[in-house]
Amino acid sequence: MDEDKLRELIWAPWRISYIEGCDQPAPSPLNPELFLPGADPGCFLCQAVADAQNPERLVIFRDQLSVVVLNRYPYNNGHLLIAPLRHVGHPGDLSPEEHTALMLTLTRMIRLLEQSLQPDGFNVGLNLGRVAGAGLPGHLHWHVVPRWNGDTNFMPVLAGAKVIPQSLAALWQLLREKVQQKPTPAQSTGAVTKNDISQPNTNPPQE
Ligand SMILES: [Zn+2]
Repeated sequence: MDEDKLRELIWAPWRISYIEGCDQPAPSPLNPELFLPGADPGCFLCQAVADAQNPERLVIFRDQLSVVVLNRYPYNNGHLLIAPLRHVGHPGDLSPEEHTALMLTLTRMIRLLEQSLQPDGFNVGLNLGRVAGAGLPGHLHWHVVPRWNGDTNFMPVLAGAKVIPQSLAALWQLLREKVQQKPTPAQSTGAVTKNDISQPNTNPPQE
């Protein structure tokens, strides 16, 4: 076994089926007319933007500038990807409005996960370029990975498989329901008025 595969097996053994390419098939192809201008029809985030209501796409939330998708190959329960609607691969390609919207969406998703899954902490990060681990370098996305005390113990290695306590479908259902509830004042970040997260907007972005 090569070193990379061994490392994956140690740190994230449930991802091995993804690495070996024998995981569940991707959802069916989409009508090209559904895509936003500039989208890549082969990009799973552009597909999620185009087909956000389809449970197979695992979209938790979409507004005028950002989209949130459950990671199909999670490093932990509740691993989310936060992306701009536009297929751009570098933070320098984002408008100031997109930067703001993405940071607000990121913050709201952290709140949502805190309320839904009660994690003890988070890893939040951006992989830029394949060398840094980006599986999809053409479409920028932030990873939000909830962490629990003790979640890096050696049980997964000894057991040979990670126990993810909730299925993706059940978690998708839970988070979709929660994100559509109106936040109470105490839960609100206090700044989102234009793109109200409780009312996902399906309009294309203004460019
Ligand atoms: Zn894309």
